Amino acid sequence: MELNILTICYLIGSVTFILGLKMLSNPATARKGNLIAAGGMIIAIFGTIFLYEENGQKLGNYPWIFGGIAIGTVIGFLAARKVKMTAMPEMVSLFNGMGGACAMLISVVEFDHIAKLFSEGWTIYPPLSQFKSDAIPVISKGHILIIVLGLIIGSVSFAGSVIAWGKLNGKVKDFSFKGQHLFNIGLLLVILGLAAYLIGWTPTNGAIIFYSILALSLLYGVFFVFPIGGADMPVVISLLNSFTGVAAACGGFLYNNKVMLTGGILVGAAGTLLTILMCKAMNRSLANVLIGSFGGGGKTGAVGSKDQGSYKEITLSDTAVLMSYSAKVYIVPGYGLAVAQAQHACHELEKLLESKGVEVKYAIHPVAGRMPGHMNVLLAEADVPYEKLLEMEQANDEFSNTDVVLILGANDVVNPAAKTDPSSPIYGMPILDVELAKNVIVNKRSMKPGYAGIENDLFFQPKTSMLFGDAKKVLQDLIGEIKNL
Ligand code: NDP
Repeated sequence: MELNILTICYLIGSVTFILGLKMLSNPATARKGNLIAAGGMIIAIFGTIFLYEENGQKLGNYPWIFGGIAIGTVIGFLAARKVKMTAMPEMVSLFNGMGGACAMLISVVEFDHIAKLFSEGWTIYPPLSQFKSDAIPVISKGHILIIVLGLIIGSVSFAGSVIAWGKLNGKVKDFSFKGQHLFNIGLLLVILGLAAYLIGWTPTNGAIIFYSILALSLLYGVFFVFPIGGADMPVVISLLNSFTGVAAACGGFLYNNKVMLTGGILVGAAGTLLTILMCKAMNRSLANVLIGSFGGGGKTGAVGSKDQGSYKEITLSDTAVLMSYSAKVYIVPGYGLAVAQAQHACHELEKLLESKGVEVKYAIHPVAGRMPGHMNVLLAEADVPYEKLLEMEQANDEFSNTDVVLILGANDVVNPAAKTDPSSPIYGMPILDVELAKNVIVNKRSMKPGYAGIENDLFFQPKTSMLFGDAKKVLQDLIGEIKNL
């Protein structure tokens, strides 16, 4: 009876994950989708804690289980409440790493478990002769394979996500050395070789191999993410996300737990799809991202490497006049908009201009900001209607009949070097073709570069005017100017 209730709990969990994922694809329903999936997860977790039985025995260990849940809940709640919008990508990366660490620890615990069984006289099958014998209890090699897979993928995801977290908050710099890719491939081959040996192993001497795989996988995770920088970080982050999903699915296989398997596969599949989409957005193949160190260390075209000429500035009052008397205005949000927390002021400007008969739309680059969908989330927070957000391809078709493009804290995503300079680390990345518009106004605080660390020719073009200052302050002052016109 209880097992049936548990199965229903798992079914509810699986259905809510799928429903939640579907709802997450639209900012209007994303919050609800997240809550629904979280509700399903709670049902699955508590179902497991109270209803799961093995050989007639319940889980037990309640102080440990509830102690862990309490600590995790407090840390997760406080972190999510306190995190600044700009630090969100770092937090997502770190939380993803925690998922990888869980999968890694599951493998460690399960390895210890089978080592104990082996010392109690269990044996490993195949060979089938042992499997057929009822007298000898057996551990399957498939079981060990899953443990090792979870260990490798979980460790790589954990270590890689921690490095990605450091890179996103600026604590870890891109690092590579000559021959690093060969070193990485060599390291991976050693890990796989040891894993193959372990699966055909005898547990008495297997612990050293197992923990060597663990250490080398952590090292691989670090060296895997170290050289990848600049514009390739979004791809790596979604790839690590899919790794965590696959590692969690390994846990589902191990425990024959359907909801863990479904959850892991959904995260793995969603992460893989996102990786493919991000690669497409960057116009690069995955192999190229992983081997090319695109935008990573040793990049060319760094700040000050060439004389860009002069740029012109525009005053707030001129900007107010230009925008108020335009027919069509496009806003290009970037990472700086999130830093300034200027999304509400931005929405206010949009409504004010529309009240004056100006058509206002937003052009969203797929890697603007610091995480996939960053700008969509930011603007949704300020209740900007979703229909006003145009994807890059749609916006690029519109720029030629646009009067003003207002760039708010964006830089790399509008850098023409991506199209014109083969030596640039972002060469090949599709960009928003804002130069096609009649006027381009760029708001940022200085002439400093963006994430990829390179100069931007756009700022020096005749059509472009710089409007310096913090995005929130500039937008608030601009709103004041327009109201006074
Ligand atoms: P960029 O990082 O290229 O540029 C942001 C600009 O915002 C800076 O040049 C900065 O200039 C300006 N800025 C910062 N603070 C403020 C402020 N308070 N007010 C006004 N301006 C400000 O951002 P983009 O969005 O154009 O591009 C994203 C970059 O991040 C790409 O290279 C992408 O590959 C990378 N990335 C994206 C991820 C994703 O998933 N989306 C993940 C990881 C990396 P100044 O200092 O002069 O003000």
